Amino acid sequence: MTQEYIEIRGARENNLKDVSLRIPKRKITIFTGVSGSGKSSIVFDTIAAESQRLLNENFSMFVRNFLPRIPQPDADGIENLSMAVIVDQKRLGGGSHSTLGTITDISPLLRLLFSRVGRPYVGHASMFSFNDPQGMCPECNGTGRRLRVDMSKAIDKSKSLNEGAIMLPGYTKDSMDLTMLVQSGPFDPDKKLSDYSEAELEELLYGKAKKVATQFGGKTVNITVEGCIEKFSNKYIKKDLKTYSERTQQTVAPYISEGICASCHGARLSQAALNCKINELNIAELSSMEIGQLIRVMREIDDPVAAPVVKSLTERLQHLVDIGLDYLTLDRETDTLSGGESQRVKMVKHLSGSLVDVTYIFDEPSVGLHPRDVHRLNELLQKLRDKGNTVIVVEHDPDVIKVADHIVDVGPHAGSHGGTIVYEGSFDGLLEAGTLTGSYMKRLLQLKSDCRQPSGKLSIKNATLHNLQNVSVDIPTGVLSVVTGVAGSGKSTLINDVFLRQHPDAIIIDQSAIGVSTRSNPATYTGMMDDVRKAFASANKVNQGLFSFNSKGACENCQGLGVVYTDLAFLDSVKLPCEVCGGKRFKEEVLTYKLNGKSIAEVLEMTVEQALAFFQLKEVVRKLQALCDVGLNYITLGQPLSTLSGGECQRIKLASELHKKGSIYVMDEPTTGLHMSDVDHLLEMMNRLVDAGNTVIVIEHNLDVISLADWIIDMGPDGGSNGGQVVFEGTPAQIIHAKQSITGRYLMNAVN
Ligand code: ADP
Ligand code: ADP
Ligand code: ZN
Ligand code: ZN
Repeated sequence: MTQEYIEIRGARENNLKDVSLRIPKRKITIFTGVSGSGKSSIVFDTIAAESQRLLNENFSMFVRNFLPRIPQPDADGIENLSMAVIVDQKRLGGGSHSTLGTITDISPLLRLLFSRVGRPYVGHASMFSFNDPQGMCPECNGTGRRLRVDMSKAIDKSKSLNEGAIMLPGYTKDSMDLTMLVQSGPFDPDKKLSDYSEAELEELLYGKAKKVATQFGGKTVNITVEGCIEKFSNKYIKKDLKTYSERTQQTVAPYISEGICASCHGARLSQAALNCKINELNIAELSSMEIGQLIRVMREIDDPVAAPVVKSLTERLQHLVDIGLDYLTLDRETDTLSGGESQRVKMVKHLSGSLVDVTYIFDEPSVGLHPRDVHRLNELLQKLRDKGNTVIVVEHDPDVIKVADHIVDVGPHAGSHGGTIVYEGSFDGLLEAGTLTGSYMKRLLQLKSDCRQPSGKLSIKNATLHNLQNVSVDIPTGVLSVVTGVAGSGKSTLINDVFLRQHPDAIIIDQSAIGVSTRSNPATYTGMMDDVRKAFASANKVNQGLFSFNSKGACENCQGLGVVYTDLAFLDSVKLPCEVCGGKRFKEEVLTYKLNGKSIAEVLEMTVEQALAFFQLKEVVRKLQALCDVGLNYITLGQPLSTLSGGECQRIKLASELHKKGSIYVMDEPTTGLHMSDVDHLLEMMNRLVDAGNTVIVIEHNLDVISLADWIIDMGPDGGSNGGQVVFEGTPAQIIHAKQSITGRYLMNAVN
């Protein structure tokens, strides 16, 4: 008899207050609740952690001796757990040798196809692999790229040699290198390079080594001189740069950039492999084709020998289309995929696999998906369930929450104000439950009517990077602009690549991790820790250094971390509480010094909210208030930044920026990890920034944010080569009537 529920009794990880619940097996259960309410504490720190621990127990005693004991999650009991697979948003690393094709196992099938029916006939399938010495381009070792001198940084043709036209190190006026180069020509050192003839320029930059006679200390000596680019690349590019000192590497690195390999043109493969074709196309051409088009090309192959391979290929490609990744190409390097794209790729891998009775755990899988494509995600979750798996999802998007068989709403609020289950049951029940989530689900959107007038504009002209189709667009200043469009339409390319390259002074508030060291926490990050240390020092008349994690006041066993990390070759590193200080991080002696009755360890255990009641110091209060304003009242001052979610990191960054004026802020999907009520909070913050005279540019799919923008730039019409254009610019009230805008259509539905 199979068990029908995963059962959890008395869970107490982080903020959980003795939580007990049952999760139906072979169903979709969705966890909802405000950020910091305890969803991850249940799903990841309790369920997934216990599953990992059980997995380790399966190893033989011999292997287990090498594994650290993973502590049991703090709970009275966890039962009927099947193996858990976590499908998260961690980027797929892997460097240039890992591509969408290799990671989905589609590339080996494509190679097999070419070895069977490609003409002229080539050897073996491995001849088509850029990871195989047989198949890789010998010039670039299968990377498709070569290092080269970045000419825009090396040479300024609008100047003469004496004015500094050669920007490479060593060629200043009257320098030895420049003097010899001028003599070797002869070149006119006062003529602008733009006035040089082509032959002169060729010789100046790329001239091969030759001996030049010169006077040195009264004698005639012969010195070898070569063109400046030629010399630089012989010295630093053709050799391994890593053999030079770190200082030299740093000096020359700015002049070196990566370009496409001239031999294989980026295809990474040997000429023999590239000459082999199916229907006039070689394997590199197929790999650089968008999945949506590739699948059509596959269907046109009608060779009985190829049929079985073509069938598996199209099946796998179809999975990628189904999850809305049809705009990607197989040769796309996995480390350039966004978090949301990475998660969807991982999802596809599992769908092709044949595991059953697995517990799949997803962390906000809707990230990066336009409302138009959310149904594709829902279908995928349902497919996994229908194969006999248990699906557990942490999600904020109402359109995903709707497909749950079972909903667990965690709350009522964050941190110590959360940690309980406020509702369990069906979606319809949630709407009537009166919880924060339930009431937000019923809300209709309001379109912003009193949009701000811009104070000026920032122009992007003729952008063509990636799929951008010669885009020229103005971004208004002094307002809240939202950039929208389906996944792959070109939003990040336009803003994160093109715009930010022109405006490197813009402040990026993203969700990337912020810990400078493992000892970083909200108190050190905001700078509040300095004031706190001073206060402790003067209250006790001792040196303030004692209260620092990296001083001799810190616990010696854990170096002030409170935990000890054990690294393992094939598992994530495991964290165990420090046995000496018991997690308090300081030496006994330091803990005897008090400030208003509290030790430094006790202060670091305070939540922002508690600290606000405790401190009167003006600077400390201002920083604490800023953390409260971004909704982080529930985090503790000493919580390691590495334990904060992406959304929490983003809000800490926001808190430390709130007092600035006249800046440009760029945020990429800031609503990730945020409950609908948290989104209201975030919008308040963004509006405060704009009211203080800043420009805020946001990439978003969240309809609440879009509906309250001052200005919308909608990219499209679709993803990949079918996108890359601005299809709409204007206000929320205008976009719902714009026929060409998919975003407008979905916004219209949400207000009605
Ligand atoms: P959610 O997933 O709902 O956003 P979490 O489960 O991540 O919430 O967090 C619940 C509470 O526990 C929050 O106050 C959070 O700051 C805290 N917390 C999470 N992880 C840790 C940790 N490793 N150490 C200390 N506190 C933590
Ligand atoms: P969005 O932000 O709207 O989801 P992107 O700007 O990420 O869209 O992508 C636009 C197009 O550019 C897509 O076809 C995508 O595959 C491609 N693209 C994005 N980043 C890269 C990259 N680093 N290398 C190659 N192509 C890329
Ligand atoms: Zn090459
Ligand atoms: Zn310790």
